Formats: sequence, structure tokens, C-alpha cells
Amino acid sequence: MLSRFLWLLVAKRPHFAWVCLQSGKRKIKTGSNFETMAQVKRYRKSSKSSEDGEQDNDDYVPYVPVKERKKQHMMKLGRVVQLASETTQPKSSSENENEDDSQGAHDAETWGRKYNISLLDQHTELKKIAEAKKLSAVEKQLREEEKIMESIAQQKALMGVAELAKGIQYEEPIKTSWRPPRYIRAMSEEERQNIRQQLRILVEGENPSPPIRSFREMKFPKGILNGLAAKGIKTPTPIQVQGLPTVLAGRDLIGIAFTGSGKTLVFVLPVVMFALEQEFSLPFERNEGPYGLIICPSRELAKQTHEIIQHYSKHLQACGMPEVRSCLAMGGLPVSEALDVISRGVHIVVATPGRLMDMLDKKILTLDMCRYLCMDEADRMIDMGFEEDVRTIFSFFKGQRQTLLFSATMPKKIQNFARSALVKPVTINVGRAGAASMNVTQQVEYVKQEAKVVYLLDCLQKTAPPVLIFAEKKQDVDCIHEYLLLKGVEAVAIHGGKDQEERSRAVDAYRVGKKDVLVATDVASKGLDFPNVQHVINYDMPDDIENYVHRIGRTGRSNTKGLATTLINKITEQSVLLDLKHLLIEGKQQVPDFLDELAPEAEHQHLDLGDSHGCTYCGGLGHRITECPKLEAVQNKQASNIGRRDYLSNTAADY
Ligand code: ADP
Ligand code: MG
Repeated sequence: MLSRFLWLLVAKRPHFAWVCLQSGKRKIKTGSNFETMAQVKRYRKSSKSSEDGEQDNDDYVPYVPVKERKKQHMMKLGRVVQLASETTQPKSSSENENEDDSQGAHDAETWGRKYNISLLDQHTELKKIAEAKKLSAVEKQLREEEKIMESIAQQKALMGVAELAKGIQYEEPIKTSWRPPRYIRAMSEEERQNIRQQLRILVEGENPSPPIRSFREMKFPKGILNGLAAKGIKTPTPIQVQGLPTVLAGRDLIGIAFTGSGKTLVFVLPVVMFALEQEFSLPFERNEGPYGLIICPSRELAKQTHEIIQHYSKHLQACGMPEVRSCLAMGGLPVSEALDVISRGVHIVVATPGRLMDMLDKKILTLDMCRYLCMDEADRMIDMGFEEDVRTIFSFFKGQRQTLLFSATMPKKIQNFARSALVKPVTINVGRAGAASMNVTQQVEYVKQEAKVVYLLDCLQKTAPPVLIFAEKKQDVDCIHEYLLLKGVEAVAIHGGKDQEERSRAVDAYRVGKKDVLVATDVASKGLDFPNVQHVINYDMPDDIENYVHRIGRTGRSNTKGLATTLINKITEQSVLLDLKHLLIEGKQQVPDFLDELAPEAEHQHLDLGDSHGCTYCGGLGHRITECPKLEAVQNKQASNIGRRDYLSNTAADY
């Protein structure tokens, strides 16, 4: 009776109810009738709140009106499905807006009561809802990744300090006198696209040049064609089919193709031709030049590239053309050697960043006339800490240049940041950036740390020589070298700590087949082209998956097959192992059990994200940018503000 009276009061005077409830709360511990009644009234307002009350207090039995009880009884019997959906639907939709997570529970509740719908239909509908939810999670992840990329992109672009300071911006690519043959120019866009599709070439950029499928049609002179024939090169590889016309036409280029696919010729042949053209129009005089500059991340690679230029220059001269003079500017060589060529007027300089900076600073070399710049293994160079050097080198240019970047691995972060230094660049991709060469069979073996050196002897039995062994640390290289020598293996070793003469001697002996095994740090992992390397052994897994791709790319070059064995154990970083696992899956290689069992939940996530796979920052396939260990390391480094100069001077000395 009293309860009914109070309820009426509450309905008519809300403020009275508030007072009652307040006093009720205060009196809860006393357990008086009044307080109990106040609670009853509160819960009578809605059936939901009465349920809550039930959970809070086991002894408490709320009052449920007869009508409501009847309805619940009917619903239990499944007779008023319609009614049930009517009552639950609006409630769930309003709550949806507020609570995302409770949606699933509600859906289940709603569906659970629809007895007139087949389980199969309910299942399909639930699946749809789950998928929609998953999709939004993917969207969320992608948005987050975009944000991170944007924040990274806000860092300084890769432009020379002088250009940045003067605000110089070049709008149009350099014009050259080279034109494709008329019938190739007449090819329709569809025909061009067909060729690209056949060769799996992806081209991005404004108005790209047509692909050309023979060196002769690219209008190379007899000397070059002879030089190619002398090396047994008959038809261009896909990167050459699209890359050579692009570079010959004067366009800036980012060229990405797997290891051993012939990227070198894409920048060597045009620069030789341009130098020749310059020489014809106005011969280079004393101290003039260079016209072209090629920067490489290691001395060995610089030397190799220089030799290739000399090869074509020699063949051109044999056909009565003027000499194309090139010189090497790299640490470990006396400057006088380079000076000798420079003083006669140099057409092409091949350099490593450290020595080049030094020579530019001392004004031994100027880039006043330089109109062609190529960075081989460009991403590695920037990753190795040469970014500031490259920026400084850019600022020595006095006019517009044609800029080319090449690598087998080119994470988006580097592409984006390098693009600022290019003018209307064309990007050519043959295969995914960062993918390993399909010519290499990759094996991964678990070997305990202490058993590794001994195991190398077994490993060497897998194939005939020559074999390359990579290790991260200089001490490990020395240790392996010593062990192999003790066991009677014809081995040589190179690393940044050895003097240049020793390094050159070792590489030359290995190149001509006098030595069977070369043990090296990553100085030998990029770009070196030893003939017929049968087997690459990774004594340890490199910290970056890109370095792994470059290391194993020393074998299986130019359509030959090769084998790579990588020794891992519990010391190996899990994140790089995940990247490795996905690289093996991508390359259709056998994934060993211990790798397969690694973080299956991460793999699940990875698959969910569909096409946009891998980390956009470093290119690793096993993680997303949100968990990128490299990005974190870089950020930590920036935060702790380690003197980059000190770090650089060390690296420069090594390379
Ligand atoms: P990348 O720089 O892409 O790793 P390289 O330019 O060093 O590859 O070339 C790898 C090897 O392939 C070299 O020995 C080179 O002589 C050879 N090569 C280059 N182009 C061709 C071609 N068109 N046909 C056959 N072999 C080629
Ligand atoms: Mg190369």
C-alpha cells in the first residue's frame, strides 16, 4: 500500500523521488522498509535496471508486473518472436552507438531469440556482422599506419641543403637527344602495356618511355653491342627493357628489381653514351668534369662498377670512338690515382660517400658540370647512415641533374623521402620491392651458437665451391676464417677492419676462382657480382631482412640457380625471424617447423590485412609499421640524440 503511494509521488514529483532515493541510499545499511521500497520503485521504472539489481543482490527479488512476466513466459516458449524483436531492436540500436564492444553480445541475444529463422541463416548473418567488424579493425589499422607514415614523411626531404636554402625546384626532366625508333614511338599505349605485362614490369610516373626489347633498337653503337656480346649478354632483362629507354630519355628513375637482374647496365650504358656525346660536342679538357657520378655503398661495389664502365669504354675505343675516362674515388686508394684522371678531364666518377665528401670538401673534385647522378643500392646507403652525406653531396651540384636510384629492396619510407630529390620520377618495379630472387633456394637451420663454427664444415659440403659466408661481426669473420684455414679450406676474408689492399687481394683471388670460400661482413653483401657463387651461408641472421635479401642475392644471379643456408638459434631476434618466415612463404620456400610455429597470431593478423602486407617503413613482411622495431630504434636514437656525426665518421672510414 505504502509502496503504491510512494510510486505515485515519484511519478508526479521527481524531486521528491530524488530526495527519497538519496535518503534511501543513506539508510541502506539499516535495512528499513522505506529504503527497500525506494529501491523497488527505482527498479520498477525499467525491466533492465531491475535485472541489474538482481545481480547486485542475490536475496533481493524485484517486482515484475504480471504483464511483463506473461510476456517473458511467452518469449521463453518462443511464441512471440515478433514481439521480442520489437522490444529488443530499438534498445540495441541505441546502445550500439555508445558501446562498440557490447554489439556482439547484443547481436547474439537478438539472434538467439529468433526461433523462426534457420540456424544456417543466423550463422550467415552473424558471420557478416563479424566480418564487418573485422573490416573496420583493418581500416583502423591502415589509418593508424598512414598517420605514422605521414609523421615520418614530415622529416626533411632528401634534397641538397643549397637547393633547400635557395628554394630551387626543377619542374621538367632533363632533355636528351635520344629518341626511340619511330616504329616504337608509334606503338599504342595498349601494346606497351602488353609488353610490360608479359615481362611483369610495373611502371609508375608521368608519361613513361616505351619498353624496348633489344639493345639494337635502343640505338646503342657497335662498340657497346660488342661489349655486351663479349659478356654473353644478348637480350635485355625486364628492368633493362623498361629502364634503359627511361634513362636514355633523361628521366629520373627509381629502379627496383631483384638481385642479379642486371640493374647495373641500366645506369652504366646511358652514362657512357652521354659522356661520349659530350666528348663529341666539346672534348673534356684538363680538370673538367665529371659529367656523371655514381655512388656506391661499398668500395668493392665501386670497384666492380668502375671495371664495368672501363669494359664498355674499351670496346668503344676499339671501334674508333673517343676514350670515356672514369675514375674511382673511394677510401683505401691514394687520392693521387683519381687526381691523375681528373687532371686529364674526367667523364665519370664512381665513388663511395666518405671519400667523395672528402674530395668535394677539399675542392679536389667539383660537381659544377655534373648532370647525371646514380645511387646504386640507394636504400642501403641511406639506411647505413649516409643520409646526411648524400644531402651534402646533392648541394655540390650547380645545375639540374638526372637522378637515378637503384636497389632490390626499397622500403616505401625511402621511396617517399627520396622522391623529393627527383623531378617527375618514373618508378619501375620488377617483382615486389624487397622480394628475394626466385633463383635462390632458401634453407633455414637451427644450430646452437656454440656448434655453429663446426657445423660450417658440414654446410660447405652441400655444394661445390665457390661459397660465400656472411657474419654480422668482424670478430666472427676472423674467427670463421681462421677455423676454415686450420681445416685446410681455401678461404679468404674481408671486413671493414682490414686494409684496402688486403680486401682487394682477397676479392680478386675469390673472383678468379683461386679461393673457394669468401668470409665477409655485410660490406660484401650489396651489389657484388661474383661469377657462379653456388652457395651463400648466413652464419647469423642479419638484423634487417633487406640485408638478408641482398646477402642471398650473391647467388642465383642472371638466370643461374643458387642455394642459401641461414643458421639461426634462440639468440636471433624474433621480429626478423617473422619477416624471414613470411619471405620464405612468399618465395614458396620450405618453412621449417620452428619458424612455422612462430607467432601464429601475428600471421593471422597479417593475412587479415590482405594486399597491403608488410611494414611500410622497413619493408619487412612479418610485421606492420605499428610494431616496427627499426622505426622504434630510429626514434629512440633521435630521442637520445646520439651524435650522428660520430657515427658517420666511423662508417665512412669503413666504406
Ligand atoms: P643487379 O645489379 O641487378 O644485382 P647486375 O647488374 O650486377 O645485377 O647483373 C648481374 C649479372 O647479370 C652480371 O654478371 C651481368 O653481367 C649479367 N647480366 C646483366 N644483364 C644481362 C642480360 N641482359 N642478359 C644476361 N646477363 C646479364
Ligand atoms: Mg647491383
